[in-house]
Amino acid sequence: MLLQKIVAATVLTLLAARGAQASSFPVSLFVIDSGHGVRTPSGAPLNVGAVSPSGVSEAAINVRVSERVAALLRDQGARVVLTRSFVRPFRIAINLRRDNRSRAALANRLGATAFVAIHCDSSLDPARRGYSVFWLRENSLALARNMRAALSTLGLGESQFRQRDLAVTSEARVPAVLVELGFISNPAQAARLLSPSFQDVEAHAILRALKATFDF
Ligand SMILES: [Zn+2]
Repeated sequence: MLLQKIVAATVLTLLAARGAQASSFPVSLFVIDSGHGVRTPSGAPLNVGAVSPSGVSEAAINVRVSERVAALLRDQGARVVLTRSFVRPFRIAINLRRDNRSRAALANRLGATAFVAIHCDSSLDPARRGYSVFWLRENSLALARNMRAALSTLGLGESQFRQRDLAVTSEARVPAVLVELGFISNPAQAARLLSPSFQDVEAHAILRALKATFDF
């Protein structure tokens, strides 16, 4: 209940801030959804995400890249809402499906320019590698293509690029993509994903894709 109040207050504050902007100068608003990191009210993990055999947690990488993307977007004058942050790396939820959908629903309620979910991939096959980009609706295709173009320059290889009915891509009505930044189960890719300089490279690639798609 407390969380709902906090979310509602945040939404109202954001809507008020948006309303204060001159309508002739719309400010882009991006919802950056750092994947995983959900606990129940008792503190038990509800959604920990992938963990590599060497103990690399994707949630930790996701939140670092998401924070970096948010900083780059804010530098460009865009507004950003992070579903998780360094300050609040864990969300509290009791229903995983509802939690997944609620993050995309937030982007809908805010009338966000776009919703970007940031994840890392994992496989039992340590040789599997590559980034992936998933989207569902037609209004997300341009963003998906630009994400692919930007991520394809990083030397990760491509795993998947396709329409996919995921909780967040299904719930989102605004342009929405889910990106997998590489495989943490692949030792070489895990080493890159853990490196702050490569996290920065990934964040810049995501920024390039957003700038190529939206006018801000
Ligand atoms: Zn994930």
